[in-house]
Amino acid sequence: MNILVIGSGGREHALVSALAKSPKVTKIYCAPGNPGIAAIAECVALDIADNSLLCRFAQEKLIDLTVVGPEAPLMNGLVDYFTANGLRAFGPTRAAAEIEGSKSFAKELMRKYHIPTAAYAVFTSPEPAKEYVREQGAPIVIKADGLAAGKGVVVAMTEAEALAAIDAMLCQQAFGQAGSQIVIEEYMEGEEASILTFTDGRTVRPMLAAQDHKRIFDGDQGPNTGGMGAYAPAPVITPALLDTIVETILQPVVNAMASEGRDYKGCLYLGLMMTKSGPKVVEFNARFGDPETQVVLPLLASDLTDVCHACIDGTLADCELVWHNQAAVCVVMAAGGYPGDYCKGEPIHGVAEAETAGGLVFHAGTAVVQGQLVTAGGRVLGVTGVNDTVASAITTAYQAVEKIRFDGMQYRRDIAYRAKGR
Ligand code: AMP
Repeated sequence: MNILVIGSGGREHALVSALAKSPKVTKIYCAPGNPGIAAIAECVALDIADNSLLCRFAQEKLIDLTVVGPEAPLMNGLVDYFTANGLRAFGPTRAAAEIEGSKSFAKELMRKYHIPTAAYAVFTSPEPAKEYVREQGAPIVIKADGLAAGKGVVVAMTEAEALAAIDAMLCQQAFGQAGSQIVIEEYMEGEEASILTFTDGRTVRPMLAAQDHKRIFDGDQGPNTGGMGAYAPAPVITPALLDTIVETILQPVVNAMASEGRDYKGCLYLGLMMTKSGPKVVEFNARFGDPETQVVLPLLASDLTDVCHACIDGTLADCELVWHNQAAVCVVMAAGGYPGDYCKGEPIHGVAEAETAGGLVFHAGTAVVQGQLVTAGGRVLGVTGVNDTVASAITTAYQAVEKIRFDGMQYRRDIAYRAKGR
């Protein structure tokens, strides 16, 4: 089987690694990929915004399965285009990916189908939005409606912060078109968790629950980032709680999408808040999460190619997921300055030693310049430790992290502390 993976981050490195384990796989291509992926797949410098170029490549290379990592190509209709051309692609159609592409669409869907989430209202002009904030009071949450690379959310602890966020999004166009409509949400309190789910449009097969760490500094301090680490399984999601989540959220949302004529196939990411009144939806994403993928997929014992094909064919009901009875912890190593301006081009040392120490090193923002591996993004590497318990997986991850060096590197020392405390 020939496979094409779309994307270039740590998530795609984890996807390629998981797919490469299948004995059915002959060859994997990744567009555009990264230096870590290049060690296990052939990276091809194709523009992932160009559906017809990707389609021609897939036809020429006799690709049997395409797996789409990031949201942008999904929103750009890549899966629709491939399917129309007789190719098999794993991921939702453009219409189904709207569950991530428009927060107001997702909220409206949840309201219509009684899926538990924060109360909300949608605005396009600042005055009514501000009026609503004054009525509701703080804390309150302001979200840009469209895709804003994970940055379009302001959790305002004061009314002043909320009003400033409305001005930034609706008056100063801080998020461009993505923020020309905003969603204002009730503030929810509780512990967060992420559940990635395979679905074929009818059956849902949740993966192991994960928790990520969004803040830059230890103890969940400092600004939000794309994610500084993650671990799985997250003990906060007990088997009984997972049953409740499937019953009240995952199955209803997949059914709702089908009722709306937007059959959702692929991986659905559920961001959850465990509130006093039960689990509620923070957000849905139309793809695997990053860095959650770097802890969930290393624990998957089933053949990922079988699962992807079952999602495409609508046969997921016949496909049970099997997991290794272990834990995984991923520590993200970021460039100095991240999540603000950061430098690029710093030489990276010690990756091979980290792998020898037992770490799985997933590349996120790296490049090779004149034969030297260098930093090329904010989140540079994700280093995952897999072991029998969370505590031993933490040890494995940090033993590997300690082998790696680059100028300005920063990483959290407390990944998975919540699980360890339990
Ligand atoms: P989102 O991009 O919607 O996942 O939001 C990013 C982060 O903002 C989430 O992971 C939460 O930590 C926080 N957040 C989003 N919505 C809410 C809410 N209604 N109440 C409290 N925190 C929220």
